[in-house]
Amino acid sequence: MIQQQIKAAIRDIHDFPKPGIIFKDITPILKDPVLCEGISDAFLEKLKGAQIDGIAGIESRGFLFGLTLATQLGVPFIPVRKAGKLPFKVNQKVYELEYGTATIEIHTDAFTPGDRILIHDDLLATGGTVTATSQLIQEMGGTVAGFSFVVGLSFLNGIEKITPISDNIIILAD
Ligand code: 5GP
Repeated sequence: MIQQQIKAAIRDIHDFPKPGIIFKDITPILKDPVLCEGISDAFLEKLKGAQIDGIAGIESRGFLFGLTLATQLGVPFIPVRKAGKLPFKVNQKVYELEYGTATIEIHTDAFTPGDRILIHDDLLATGGTVTATSQLIQEMGGTVAGFSFVVGLSFLNGIEKITPISDNIIILAD
C-alpha cells in the first residue's frame, strides 16, 4: 500500500544531475502531508521493538524523514554532512566515488560511544554513502543498528554491500 503510494508520487528526471542519469525525484512526496505521515508511520511500525539510541540522517534528503523519525522515537538526530558544513569539531571519512572521492562529517559530540545508531537516507543506490557513514560511526565508537530508506534502487545491489554491516534494512519502496 505505502509502497504503491511512494512509487506513484516519485517522478523520474532524465539527465539529472548529469546526462545519462535517471534521477528519482522524491519532492512530490513532500507536497502530500498524508503520504508523509504514512511514510513515518510505516518506518515506526517496522522499527517497533528495535533498540535505537540515535538516528543518523544523511544530507540533505535524509534529514527529512530522519528528524521526524528521531523525534517520534524520542532519540537524538545526528546530521551527517558533506565536508565544511558542520560548525563544531568533526570526525570525517573520505570515501571513493565512481570518479574521485567525497568526504562526510559528523560532530564529535553527536552521540555517545556504545550508542546504537540507525542510519537513514531517502534513497539507497550503490550503498557507498551509507557504507562510509557506517564506518565513520563505528570509528567514533557507535554500533550500526540498521538502515532505513524511503526508496531502494534494487538493480544497483546496494543491499548486498550493506547487509554485512547490519541486516536490519528497511526499504519502503523498490
Ligand atoms: P549511493 O551512495 O547509495 O550510491 O547514493 C545514495 C545517495 O545519493 C543518497 O544520499 C541519495 O540521496 C543520493 N541519490 C543518488 N541517486 C539518487 C536518486 O536517483 N534520487 C535521489 N532522491 N537521491 C539519489
